[in-house]
Amino acid sequence: MRIESSQMRNFINGEFVEPINGRYLDNLEPATGKPYSQAADSDAHDVDLAVTAAEKAFVDWSKKPATERSRFLLRIADLIERDLEKFSRAESIDTGKPISLARSLDIPRAVANFRFFATAILHTESEAHITDNVAFNYTLRQPRGIAGLISPWNLPLYLLSWKIAPAIATGNTAIAKPSELTPMTAYMLCEIAREAGLPNGVLNVVHGTGPKVGAAITAHPKITTISFTGGTVTGRKVAEACAPLFKKVSLELGGKNPNIIFADADFDAAITGSVRSSFANQGQICLCGSRVFVERSAYKNFVERFIERTAQLCLGDPLDEKTEQGAIVNKPQLDKIKFYVDLAQKEGGKIALGGSAPQLPNDRCREGYFFQPTVITDLPVSCRTNREEIFGPVVTITPFDNEEEVIGYANDTDYGLASSVWTQNLNRAHRVAEKIHTGTVWVNCWLLRDLRVPFGGMKQSGVGREGGEEALRFFTEPKNVCIAR
Ligand code: NAP
Repeated sequence: MRIESSQMRNFINGEFVEPINGRYLDNLEPATGKPYSQAADSDAHDVDLAVTAAEKAFVDWSKKPATERSRFLLRIADLIERDLEKFSRAESIDTGKPISLARSLDIPRAVANFRFFATAILHTESEAHITDNVAFNYTLRQPRGIAGLISPWNLPLYLLSWKIAPAIATGNTAIAKPSELTPMTAYMLCEIAREAGLPNGVLNVVHGTGPKVGAAITAHPKITTISFTGGTVTGRKVAEACAPLFKKVSLELGGKNPNIIFADADFDAAITGSVRSSFANQGQICLCGSRVFVERSAYKNFVERFIERTAQLCLGDPLDEKTEQGAIVNKPQLDKIKFYVDLAQKEGGKIALGGSAPQLPNDRCREGYFFQPTVITDLPVSCRTNREEIFGPVVTITPFDNEEEVIGYANDTDYGLASSVWTQNLNRAHRVAEKIHTGTVWVNCWLLRDLRVPFGGMKQSGVGREGGEEALRFFTEPKNVCIAR
């Protein structure tokens, strides 16, 4: 399997095919700023081809017994696992994330996604309701047809497989569009799907930009289900495109997640957890805790130790095994981070650590997109830096005096994706968790995921839930059959 210098074609009807217009986009390696491969610059015509293939494949695939569909997904999982090293390296080159993170988080999670949904479909319950002596109802849950799956660049295979696996497990066929910035692992997944013998047309991948391919998917009348993960601004466009066609839509969007540390927390765990939740994947995880709130009596100590630990993070070439902080995905994202660090200073913030581009890790990375892990203090809670999603290695730390105050701070944003609470007081943990408006609340942990639980955001962090039963329901249409008794 080639990884570097390859030209990624679309995967339609089980074949790798040129984009109809013959055009390709350069794919840059964030760590070097240089192109290392190309991906199809497709458009609506390629989406049409994929729809034809997916429509045809749906006829047989939707009728296959769950046990048979399950076997294909299990085979895909096994093959990704077999190629763990190749996938991890590709993901690291494509995204700029440390290879150790790709190997320990992203790729294993993609494997887990396929295994989870392969087995979940074997254990679903069906519903029946008896209406007194009058009728007997049962609910059929049928695949909806063609699912359009659009994913972002930060966790490319992890997030795309989180959509592909439940969509095809439940008998739908899929048209997936990875981010144009990080197409490589989706391309490799197609090779795996072929090797696993997945019937032609069940999974189709169309590469290209959001405005061309993404928009064509959301606008296509035959793609009736849309699962989208990305930014809130794009999510709004997706919702607008889908609404007139009454598509079933799931939107997993941005976040500005609070991380709350009470003075009674296990301090070592809170520091370790907070450094991780602030800077994992250079802060480019939607669930990262970018606003840290610390109870005033512990504030000074926390800030000192947090800075000390953050300063020890090893920033370097993503392909180096020692690296803990890799590159930012591209130049526009790097510029956005710089913009917010400047803004924070104008808003009165103090840069307690970082705040600029680092000394570049090695010669290979001379033109790469790197930024130091950055800690900002002394900002008002309601300023832009504390309300808008930066999506980079930038965290603010703010003191608070009591529970009620910090709950107000936590909820003072348009987002509502996730939060973390660090305390040893169990009653307080339950109280605070109940009052924070986020789809997930972690207590004394971060990013601990059970794939059965509903996952998603509140407010402008999204609509709908993914994960476990929620995903199985999302990708199926309930039909009630009512039989008179
Ligand atoms: P993005 O710009 O919104 O892009 C997401 C995907 O949508 C990409 O594949 C993009 O294509 C495509 N797209 C762009 N315009 C489109 C349009 N008009 N119609 C349909 N699709 C379109 O987001 P991103 O910058 O890739 O990712 C970062 C964002 O994702 C952050 O806000 C982060 O919080 C969020 N995120 C959320 C979750 C979650 O679970 N809630 C998880 C991860 C990330 P191209 O990139 O190819 O142009």
